[in-house]
Amino acid sequence: MRTCTQPTSTVELLAAHLHTAAEHGRRAANSGAVCRHIPALAGVPSTGFAMAVAGVDGSLLHTGDSDHPFSIQSLSKLFALCALLRHDREAWNDVGWDPTTSGYGSVADLERNHGRPTNPFVNSGAIVVTDRLITHSGDAVASTIGLLRNADARAAVDSDIDVARSESSTGHRNSAIAHVLAEHGYLENPIDVVLQQYFSQCAITASVKTLATAALFLADRSGPSAILDEASVRRVNAVLLTSGMYGAAGDIAYRIGLPSKSGIGGGVLAVMPGKGTVCVWSPPLDAVGNSAGGVAAIDEFARLARWSVF
Ligand code: GLN
Repeated sequence: MRTCTQPTSTVELLAAHLHTAAEHGRRAANSGAVCRHIPALAGVPSTGFAMAVAGVDGSLLHTGDSDHPFSIQSLSKLFALCALLRHDREAWNDVGWDPTTSGYGSVADLERNHGRPTNPFVNSGAIVVTDRLITHSGDAVASTIGLLRNADARAAVDSDIDVARSESSTGHRNSAIAHVLAEHGYLENPIDVVLQQYFSQCAITASVKTLATAALFLADRSGPSAILDEASVRRVNAVLLTSGMYGAAGDIAYRIGLPSKSGIGGGVLAVMPGKGTVCVWSPPLDAVGNSAGGVAAIDEFARLARWSVF
């Protein structure tokens, strides 16, 4: 007689879902292409894959290259924003909170809004976040790294100088955005300083395990978080849902229903309030600039685990 080993506990069940979802994600990665926008990232292996699920109960499940520190790029915008909100809860007034379908690097959008960013997850808003963090802490990169180490002070989190330099030498669009912001009086610090810090912040490297556990404060509903006040956590999650995945935010809300953030290094991080977080790294990107395998894996995991805010 064959013994059937069915997963029993919630953690075992989530682990089974994680593995099914990871397989799904690995297959979907074939449809994407690795980012060429930052030359130093063009050589990242397209087969790299990692996935981690962190629970508010302290559980941490993972598969693949889950200790590999990858380039977090726009995922840094989420942690930089939260680091800034710890200094100034009303920083939203400077960066906005409205969705846009114009793309994360749109100069036209910024011009139309007279230099005011639409939200903190497009580049203009993120550059203003970096600027304000410099004002409050003197070092936006160190503040962002500090928040990424909130769950584990020894976590391997660094800024890759080659990636920062590579983006600095080709980042004409971000440079244009910073100049438009400055023209309209939206920057408090010198343009060169802000851009250098912004590129170094985007060049931060961390693993899916580190990102999933560091973001748990956005999922924990057990009481006021030591990291951020409850109202700020709600606002961050709301704006992640409407703007964290750029032009695909509406599609992701419809299909998956989780506040999520992506980066062109291939990372995607999603939050399930009250339950936990899930982070995937898979470098090939889809047409919008989101990780093809990452979105597919989170979609499948959320469906199996019945994670949705709706
Ligand atoms: N550093 C990249 C940029 O500013 C980040 C973009 C992204 O990950 N979506 O263009």
